Amino acid sequence: MTKNVILGLAIVVLLSPLAGCAEPNAKEPNAAPEAKKPVVIQWVQTDTGKWMVHDMNRPTSPVVTPGEASCYDKVGTAPSDAVVLFGGKDASGWEGVKNPSGPFPWTVGNGYLETVKDAGYIRTKQKFGSCQLHIEFAPPEKVIGKDQARGNSGIFLMETYEIQVLDSYNNRTYADGQCGALYGRNVPLVNSCRKPGEWQSYDVIFHRPTFKNGKVDRKATFTIFQNGVLIHDNVELQGGTNWIGPHAVTDYKPHGDKGSLALQDHGNPVRFRNIWIRELKD
Ligand code: MG
Repeated sequence: MTKNVILGLAIVVLLSPLAGCAEPNAKEPNAAPEAKKPVVIQWVQTDTGKWMVHDMNRPTSPVVTPGEASCYDKVGTAPSDAVVLFGGKDASGWEGVKNPSGPFPWTVGNGYLETVKDAGYIRTKQKFGSCQLHIEFAPPEKVIGKDQARGNSGIFLMETYEIQVLDSYNNRTYADGQCGALYGRNVPLVNSCRKPGEWQSYDVIFHRPTFKNGKVDRKATFTIFQNGVLIHDNVELQGGTNWIGPHAVTDYKPHGDKGSLALQDHGNPVRFRNIWIRELKD
């Protein structure tokens, strides 16, 4: 071993403890804990597959041309992908419930349908399940009767679940039977009725119930706007809405995946117009 090599080894042995002191990752005794790096989410799982955020290849929404909203004296129109159930003249998509093959039992007026006392309910020939429904109605301008006898009709999803139609403008009745109620079950959040004779609207998001082994498996839900005001916020309907006697309603009864939209004859001349529906996924 040469003198130089021996000298070099001696320097390394002497400096090695110093090198340990100078370790770059050593923490100061009172140093703050290191901040955790945020987790970066770049992928989302969707109905159409797994997509990177802002991926230009992800399918965009189908184009729907919106309809025109109704004004006080002008009726609106349906969006381009809606099934128009009544656009102002043609009631051929409807039938009387009492006599489905007979003549249409209600009045088809100038742009509207009107109930005829004792003619019975009417319903659509086409059947629907979960849906977005737009419908306009007008209780009679001339106020006759009170409580449930004033401008009473009803809108039945799947011919079963009633959204009450009533003239509830300064007309006291039981809360779960006022205009906008899910009859006998759910009271609307607010009373947003217009005056008698004025056109009003419901915009409804309805998800049908499902059934398994003869029992309800998933209950129906309703979100409803009356005249643009939210009156039911994703409400889960706890049972049927059929009136079977004082202070008694029905429970769920199993039925098919689709049913007619029905309108009630309750003996009062209520008008309907601009009825359209868009089918939704369950
Ligand atoms: Mg009713």
